[in-house]
Amino acid sequence: MRTIYLDNSATTPLDPLVKKAMDDFWYKKYGNPSSLHHKGREAKQELIKSRKKVAKIINCKPEEIIFTAGGTESINMALIGIAFANKKSGNHIIISNIEHPAVLATCNYLDKHGFDITILSVEKDGILNPKKVEKAITSKTILISAMQVNNEIGTIQPITEISKIIQAYNHRKHANIYFHTDSCQAGNYLNINVKRLGVDAMTLNGSKIYGPKQTGILYIKQDTQIQPYIYGGGQENKLRSGTENMPGIIGFTKALEIAQKKKATESKRLEGLRDWFIKEILKQIPDTILNGHIAKRLPNNINISFMGVEGESMVLFLDKYGICVSSGSACSSTKLTASHIIMALEDNHERAHSSIRFSLGRYTTKKDLEFTLKIIKQAVEKLRNISAV
Ligand SMILES: *Cc1c(COP(=O)(O)O)cnc(C)c1O
Repeated sequence: MRTIYLDNSATTPLDPLVKKAMDDFWYKKYGNPSSLHHKGREAKQELIKSRKKVAKIINCKPEEIIFTAGGTESINMALIGIAFANKKSGNHIIISNIEHPAVLATCNYLDKHGFDITILSVEKDGILNPKKVEKAITSKTILISAMQVNNEIGTIQPITEISKIIQAYNHRKHANIYFHTDSCQAGNYLNINVKRLGVDAMTLNGSKIYGPKQTGILYIKQDTQIQPYIYGGGQENKLRSGTENMPGIIGFTKALEIAQKKKATESKRLEGLRDWFIKEILKQIPDTILNGHIAKRLPNNINISFMGVEGESMVLFLDKYGICVSSGSACSSTKLTASHIIMALEDNHERAHSSIRFSLGRYTTKKDLEFTLKIIKQAVEKLRNISAV
């Protein structure tokens, strides 16, 4: 049976060129970048090169890049590190209600440690209104975190507008509110220029951009007050100690370079496939709802509620035909809780429980989607009949 992988927002396969770039770093260039001898210096040179390449892509200084073990770690480091380092200035943090669990759970931890968290609701189309952010800011606010793209419904958030509001406030009140964005889903398709976005901190990961899992970066603007998250030998600007994961760093860098090179053509190609697929599902299958904004969404994201069909049953039905999709977010799809993202759009359990995410990728073809559409129609017919009995 052939696999049709439509779960690229959960993770992507490794690009063969990324693997090739990593190959030398297992047996040949195995040195520790902190060592003085030639094997150490060799690794150190490669580390410096990678940092420069990543810095150029996101438009920052090399010293502002911290290599980490993925999105979750970068987010923990940014939120916990900034919160505790700025406690004297205030204890208020603002996030949205559709953030990834890495943000929500970290804020839950901070809430238990003396911080006051405001969770803003997004609009019905899944977009955070910058005016709401402006209203939520108080003299105690030290940090705002908003994702650049939502992982479940693909909505693109107005990061630049939110940044302008924060900068204006900081300027007017001589305040110093930091702005972090979770860009894990943005690396393949969107502008990740930190100056244009106007952010002080940004998280990216490798596992969503055809790079190795457990790799990523945290961009931290120079002079940001942040305390280390992991203590030890002082690597990564003293913020993230531990011997560098050289194969991972090389792999992440290569993956990011390829993603940026393919950005324009892949976005255009996938937008075409996405719009066709959405149109056909809504036209051919009754009682279906598109979740998220119709235009302000990632080129590869389709999220639809098939009313009357239980999401998990649909995932398993499609899986029998080799088709991989997800219901709710990947992290909660093994739990039978309604998606907090779809619930944020409307207080409707049925809509949340029947939502399916199709996330297209580099290897997705029109033929894959035609076959998927055929199987979905069979699934809906069969599964709706079951619930009616
Ligand atoms: C995948 C993802 C994360 C977590 O990244 P890991 O590398 O799996 O730790 C965080 N935020 C978003 C939006 C994601 O899609």
